[in-house]
Amino acid sequence: MRKDLSVFDIETVRRDFPILSRSVHGRKLAYLDNGATTFVPERVLAAVEEQYRSFQANVHRGVHYLSEQSTERVERVRFETAGFINANSPEEIVFTSGTTGSINLAARAFSDGILQQGDRVITTQMEHHSNLVPWQEACRRSGAELDIVHMTDEGELDLNELSRLLEKRPKLFAVAWVSNVLGTVNPLERIIPIAHAAGCPVLVDAAQAMRHGCVDVQALDCDFLCFSGHKIMGPTGVGVLYGRREWLERLTPASFGGGMIDEVDTKKSTFAEIPFKFEAGTPNIAGIIGLGAALRYLKDLGLPEIYAREAELLTYVGRMLGERGDLDVLGSPAERAGAISFNVRGLSCYDAAKLLDQLGVAVRSGHHCAQPLLKRFSLTGAVRVTPAFYNTREEIDALCSGLDRIAALLDNKR
Ligand code: PMP
Repeated sequence: MRKDLSVFDIETVRRDFPILSRSVHGRKLAYLDNGATTFVPERVLAAVEEQYRSFQANVHRGVHYLSEQSTERVERVRFETAGFINANSPEEIVFTSGTTGSINLAARAFSDGILQQGDRVITTQMEHHSNLVPWQEACRRSGAELDIVHMTDEGELDLNELSRLLEKRPKLFAVAWVSNVLGTVNPLERIIPIAHAAGCPVLVDAAQAMRHGCVDVQALDCDFLCFSGHKIMGPTGVGVLYGRREWLERLTPASFGGGMIDEVDTKKSTFAEIPFKFEAGTPNIAGIIGLGAALRYLKDLGLPEIYAREAELLTYVGRMLGERGDLDVLGSPAERAGAISFNVRGLSCYDAAKLLDQLGVAVRSGHHCAQPLLKRFSLTGAVRVTPAFYNTREEIDALCSGLDRIAALLDNKR
């Protein structure tokens, strides 16, 4: 049975993140830029510090006590990460530097070992550049063609176009679960079976999806899934590439060096088993330990409570923005999570964000690494609001008061 929302004691939760109570420009901070990166709870900071302070030794290389401890701690996080996303086994979890690193790894492996001249790959107009540019490059290197699924005016994917493109028997469909600009939740439970029926594997960019609903890679039936630690209360510089075992075994490594080999001769080498063949060099050990602490923190807080609170806060922002007559919200998808973007009429997104910043309200402005999406709306930028579970309605009210102040300034200028 789901616990009542009231058990999620916001004041207690906020105490886990002392940075939330700092001020900027002499104002109380209202941090509404969690789509870019989230704050880190004390428990994660302590775990990272403990790793450096008391363990630090390199993994997989030593038989001495500390090296064995570091190795065991990293492998425990691999096991926990597999559990968190319900992967079949820890071998399906590759540690990377983040979502961008994960997608680049997959794109390189596809261009080197799977894609051939004339093959096709599909991605979408909605993607973060991290799930577009690596595929452009993979296609350039291999001679494959990149097809794009376009968006409707509502900011949803044109699924009829996807079906038509799938008839060309593409080798991969790479798609965001949740748009980092519009917050559109793509209906992967419908999309993935359609792609699979056409023999096409699916890579999911879950960078913005991890705090909005249960991520179960087996139920979703995706072939790859990528996410970053720093968008789920973990450290920067660490992320995950989940790959279905058959796929990881089939793909060639994308990066070479220590840690990923089986046997090395001067002219030729053989590679380790999955997942190690994809992890050349010393990994971000403390980052991985921090990621593990972040996953544990989220689970202890209660995932259903987190999903519910984030949805409630986003609905509140949407309502507050929707009631205003002085701005335009981008898109109106059937399901929105995590993000909502807008432009104040008569003001650039940069000026709006700068003015809000002076009032202590942190929002993001610009193209959000999604230029094709903005071009679809004939825009070059937008203001983006991305609350997290530790935000409050008062902080969203601070955003709205800031927008009132901006409206007054604009009125005075007219
Ligand atoms: N994809 C999406 C949808 C994102 O929102 C982001 C981060 N803004 C990324 C990919 C890239 O993540 P990272 O910078 O952590 O590699």
